[in-house]
Amino acid sequence: MVATLELGNGGERHNGTVESELAVLRGWSWPYTVVHGAHDGPRTTVTAGIHGCEYVSIYAAMRLARELDPAEVMGQVVVVPVVNLPSYWERTAFVGPYDGKNLNRLFPGKSTGTFSEALAYFAFNTFILPNDAYIDLHGGDLVEDLAPFAGYLPGTDPAVEERSRAMADAFGLSYIISRFAGASAPTGLTFTAAAERGVASVLAEAGGCGQLTLDDVELLVAGTRRALTVAGNLAGDPTPPQPSRHLDQSEHVAAGCDGFWICDVQAGDHVSEGQELGRILGIAGELRDTVTAQRDGVITVRTTSAAVKKGGMLFSLGS
Ligand SMILES: [Zn+2]
Repeated sequence: MVATLELGNGGERHNGTVESELAVLRGWSWPYTVVHGAHDGPRTTVTAGIHGCEYVSIYAAMRLARELDPAEVMGQVVVVPVVNLPSYWERTAFVGPYDGKNLNRLFPGKSTGTFSEALAYFAFNTFILPNDAYIDLHGGDLVEDLAPFAGYLPGTDPAVEERSRAMADAFGLSYIISRFAGASAPTGLTFTAAAERGVASVLAEAGGCGQLTLDDVELLVAGTRRALTVAGNLAGDPTPPQPSRHLDQSEHVAAGCDGFWICDVQAGDHVSEGQELGRILGIAGELRDTVTAQRDGVITVRTTSAAVKKGGMLFSLGS
């Protein structure tokens, strides 16, 4: 039930498509590119479009697929620009259109599950697991404003953790997050599931709000190239122009009630304990909740949508 990718010949770029035998995924075909190096080396996969509206990450992956030169690559670099094809075509933020589930909460997936659960299973076993290293590019969803960051999972096999952290450092984004905290902290992410299975893995995120911001694309393209030197697919120095600031945690702060969210801060803002960060109004315009910072920190991600539901993320506070 697991598809195998055609890798093409050494020294060539191979473009292919792959389909799944899982009944719920029939009719879909995933484009991918293998930049197959002339020299032996490790296999690394770069995915994007796990969230289908994160255009910065998708374009960064497209550029890497076309710009990496097989003559400079050792081993194989596999690029999958859009994993969540239904979310891409239907422009659904965070969740897939068929079952309302967030693909990046479902890894390593379930072969007998709903569309998104089966897609996680297919993507995990076809794209993510058969690798020495794995890079997942994200770009802030339609209603997300964020400070560029990389993430990795600590506490895995020490060699996997060290390589994952080195890839995160190589991206040179503003922040590195190694622990998501809070009641609505995410689980079942691509890179955490992969690292738990022994694949050195990193998440890199830049962009947001449905915009194709080319400076952010450049951040992800350049960062991925440096991460590929850590992975052993490219020669060169992985040191980024600016080092990232490591955060001990980033806490997802959830809405305490349904309503209309008025946020007073931007992604990247530093805030102080007790500072008012915004208000939630009822639909009649009445004040329902005032949201204050529980500690000093930096806003790593902010929900830009005014419409919020109880339990939905308002922002993530890094410290
Ligand atoms: Zn995402």
